[in-house]
Amino acid sequence: MREVGTIQSIRVRTCRVPIDPPVETASGHVPIAPLVLIDVETSAGIIGHSYLFTYTPLALKPVAELVAGMEALIKGQPVAPAMLFDMLQQRFRLLGIEGLVLMAISGIDMAIWDALAKSAGLPLARLLGGDIRPVPAYASLRGMSADSIVREAEPLLEQGFTAFKFKIGMPDPETDLSAIAALRRKLGPKAKIMVDFNQSLSVAEAKRRLPTLDDLGLNWIEEPTLSTDFASQAEIRRAARTPMQAGENWWGPQDAAKSIAAGATDLIMPDLMKIGGITGWHRTAALAEAAGLPVSSHIFPEVSAHALLATSGADMLEYLDIAAPVLARPLRIKKGCAVLDDEPGNGLGWNEAAVARFAA
Ligand SMILES: [Mg+2]
Repeated sequence: MREVGTIQSIRVRTCRVPIDPPVETASGHVPIAPLVLIDVETSAGIIGHSYLFTYTPLALKPVAELVAGMEALIKGQPVAPAMLFDMLQQRFRLLGIEGLVLMAISGIDMAIWDALAKSAGLPLARLLGGDIRPVPAYASLRGMSADSIVREAEPLLEQGFTAFKFKIGMPDPETDLSAIAALRRKLGPKAKIMVDFNQSLSVAEAKRRLPTLDDLGLNWIEEPTLSTDFASQAEIRRAARTPMQAGENWWGPQDAAKSIAAGATDLIMPDLMKIGGITGWHRTAALAEAAGLPVSSHIFPEVSAHALLATSGADMLEYLDIAAPVLARPLRIKKGCAVLDDEPGNGLGWNEAAVARFAA
């Protein structure tokens, strides 16, 4: 165990990393990954890393400023992420603890957990009580058309992936059905296929369209309708036989608790940036375990892999490596699993030349 010191400073940088090919969804396309890179340094010289993905470049500067502004609130404090998470929540109670504020808190939380793991000389997964072993992953495809997803699947099959997700929700439901059929022909009967509507349907449309997907052997249907309407999700869930997946848009463990209590979903997939970093993930995983719900992850595959290794009922890691161009060591995939190094921390580090090249 190295001396960890106290929180000394937060360094924040912003990048606009091209996503090639772009991620297409029924709720908009994403050609650029706006990333906020965070380095939290302790008085003992340990640096913890994390990054945030703001979806739109418009949110890049406000999120970076929130993170930088929080330095004054945690400077000199112990490297105690759960305690600091509660303290920051308390400080922002009057403003509200979701949206950009929770994203900033989550980024700081992940970086502090990284610093703590480094001081303990342990990979984050081990610090959290898990073991380092391959993490079953699924490939998240970026395209929506039959041609593009079949083309994209090719190299991923060679990497050993046996589970794939893609975005549906085209105006004509037949277009979705033929894309699912084309991918099934390409992957064969044993592959897992999941689909994601990205909240694009009305409740009435979802009730009409979801039952038509029930006999296609899909492993889950993700976010058909507005992510905040838990009551309707519960209704839609009862109308379809395919398992429902949700969680990437939950703001903190409180939303997870409400969704689970409403019976809104069969499977959960928290997003480290919106759920409250590792601290929020940990608290959400406890709720999922109590409810018997399998837990997958949403983007941030590098740190999510560590979290899943310490999560009861861990299901699959979402593999979509939009930050890879600025990482010193992008996540490795072997036989369809993420393979982590048995080294202290969460595995994040920066490719400084790329960070300079993509600086926003
Ligand atoms: Mg999704």
